[in-house]
Order: sequence, then structure tokens, then C-alpha cells
Amino acid sequence: MQMTNKELAARTNQVIIGTYTRYPAAMVAGSGCRLTDAEGKEYLDFLAGIAVCGLGHCHPAVTAAICEQAGRLVHVSNLYYTEPQTELAELLTAHCFADKVFLANSGAEANEAAIKLARICSGADRYEIISLSGSFHGRTLATVAATGQAKFQKGFEPMPEGFSHAPFGDLAALESMITDQTCAILCEPLQGEGGVRPLEPSYLRGLRALCDKFDLLLIFDEIQTGMGRTGTLFAHEQMGVTPDIMTLAKALGNGLPMGALLTTNRIAAAFAPGTHASTFGGNPVAAAAAVATLKVMLAHGFLAEVREKGRYLHDQLQALAARFPELAVTARGLGLIQGLVLTEAGVQRGSAIVNRMFAKGCLINFAGGVALRFLPPLIVSSEEIDQMTALLAEVLEELAAEM
Ligand SMILES: *Cc1c(COP(=O)(O)O)cnc(C)c1O
Repeated sequence: MQMTNKELAARTNQVIIGTYTRYPAAMVAGSGCRLTDAEGKEYLDFLAGIAVCGLGHCHPAVTAAICEQAGRLVHVSNLYYTEPQTELAELLTAHCFADKVFLANSGAEANEAAIKLARICSGADRYEIISLSGSFHGRTLATVAATGQAKFQKGFEPMPEGFSHAPFGDLAALESMITDQTCAILCEPLQGEGGVRPLEPSYLRGLRALCDKFDLLLIFDEIQTGMGRTGTLFAHEQMGVTPDIMTLAKALGNGLPMGALLTTNRIAAAFAPGTHASTFGGNPVAAAAAVATLKVMLAHGFLAEVREKGRYLHDQLQALAARFPELAVTARGLGLIQGLVLTEAGVQRGSAIVNRMFAKGCLINFAGGVALRFLPPLIVSSEEIDQMTALLAEVLEELAAEM
């Protein structure tokens, strides 16, 4: 017998620790920008597993690569060579500043590697990392310490030492925080979890200049902004800034767990055999998925289309902001990471908007307590963008009428 959404929710809540507030849907299948729940209801997915399924659900090239590799070799230790991880690193380094890659399984693990690399490469007395308020860097202790949002740290104190947070977008304030102990600046080019908050290219170039002046490493967390999300393979390409270390995860494996740290030969040399490791990092199946994903994204015209569709989504959201000024202020974002910034009255109804969209069969989320966040698969069509914005207009209209 087919299970219902309610049945799976009840079973899950018996045995899975409740770290998530979940929507009442048990997802059983996905294709492109659509998901199907246990009762056959379809959802238009404008979240993509939180920027994970860049190519949408069950992209044929990725599924084929996974199946092929799973039938050949699923795992061996990193004590041996496997070609998929090498091919992935070759593809990544051919398309960015980096010469070398460390493969991990998640964003937090990639950022942990970046923190450790920045410290070991800077010497024993330089260990402090400055990140930004409003940032998000992961849920391990060190990455939660780097995260500039107190709510993620609460109850887990004491935090590991050596992390401080500069006010968002204020270069002079950050400069005043640099000490003899500082080794790196860690920053998302656009804050995703923080509410789709882009940093000015001039600010990011200012960070580069500070790093050069004080001999610090510039670490860009492109876990959410990377892999084509902003319309270029990596967001920093549009900013005229090159970091020393970049971290990736989310869309890298199109749904298989894969994280990566990328850096130059000079910096990578600080990681010698035995200094850092990961049992599953660079797993052949996940790496094969990532290689297939990257090849699709690098094909001619793919990223140009992301930019075009991103502009279209932005314009549609901006039109909604103009139409519902009591609820929405403005649209902001880059490529296909877009936010609709809400007014105070809108923020109070942020969760209600997401819930009503869910009821209408469309998945979005509310980020940082400030903006609705839209992260469709990069393969989204303009018709699907129209469908989402039509549903959102209905919801905003309902809520405005109730005010
Ligand atoms: C999601 C995210 C992380 C954490 O990634 P996990 O895979 O959940 O550990 C870190 N940084 C940014 C910018 C993210 O969006």
C-alpha cells in the first residue's frame, strides 16, 4: 500500500532527531524543476534542495554517470588513486584561479579545511579569521564560530577561539579589526542564508587590497554562489577579485555529497601527507556526478542562459515589489539566486507566504528573516518562472487583502 505524507511524517518523527521543521510532504520523485510527493501532488521547485540541484532533479547525464560509476567502483580509500576525482579537479582548476583541490563531502567540511589550511600556512602565532556579520559558513563548531549570526551559536558555547565578525560591508571597520594574529578574511561574495545580500564589488576588491597589504589570505565561501548559480561559474569572476582559497559544495555534485577547497600551489603546499584527510572525500560516485554536472554547465551558452533567466526572474520579482509595496521592498540577487526583500509587515508574514506557496504547490523559502529566497534549478524555463511569480502574486494579493 502507498504511504501517505502523514504516515511518513509520523514514522520519521519517531526515529529522526527533530533538527528541522519540515513541511508536511514526503517527496518520492523528482524530474527537472518538479517534485512529486507520496500522494501524487506535484511541486514546482524554486529551492532546488537549497541550491544543490543546479541541473534539476534526476538530470539524465548525472544519473547515467552515477549508475555507470556505481556499477564499476563505489569506494576505495584515498590511499589509492581514482580517476573521477582527478578529472573533477582537472575540470575545476582549468576554469578558475586555483591549481589544487582538496575534496570533501559538504560545505562545512570544505570550510573547516579552509580554516585549517589558512592557519597552518600562516604559522603558529597567526590564527584569527575575520568573517562578516550575517554570514553563514556551516554547522560544525569552527564553521559555526565563523558564522556571523548569534542564533547558530547559541547554546553551543564556548566557541572555538580565533574568529571575529566585521559589520557587513564596512571596510574601515574590518581593517580596524586586523591584528598581528589575523591570518585570513572569510567571506561569501553574496550572503545566501543571510537573506540574499550581495556585497559590492568595490567592497570585495577592498578586501583583496587589505589581504595584500597585511599579508592575509582571502577565502571566498562560494558554497551557495558557486557552480553557475550567479550566472558565471563562480561569483567572484563578476567582481574583478581573485581569492586565495575558494570553497564549494552544494551544487557541485548536483545532489550527491561533494565539497571542495580550491587554492594555489603555493598555499596548498602547507597541507602535507597526514596534515588533513577525509575518508569519503572525493568518493568516485560523487566525483563522477560532479564531473557530469560540470560538463553540462561548461557547455556553450549554459551560463549565458542562467544570466538571462536570472534577469527575467529579477524583473518579475521587482514588478511584484512595485505591485505590493505594503509587503515587499525590492528584488535583489545575482543570476538565479534572487531575493524579494520584505517590509516589516512582510517579514511578519514571511513564513505564511512560504506556507501558502507550499499549499499551492510551489517551494520557496524565507532567508535571514528578511527576504524570500528563490533558488530554482539553473535549467528553469521562463514559463516556470511565470508560473512561480503568478502563484506568488496570488499569495501576496491574499495577504494584502487580509491586512
Ligand atoms: C550551505 C552553506 C554552507 C554549509 O554547507 P553544508 O553542506 O550544509 O555543510 C556553508 N557556507 C555557505 C555559504 C552555505 O550556503
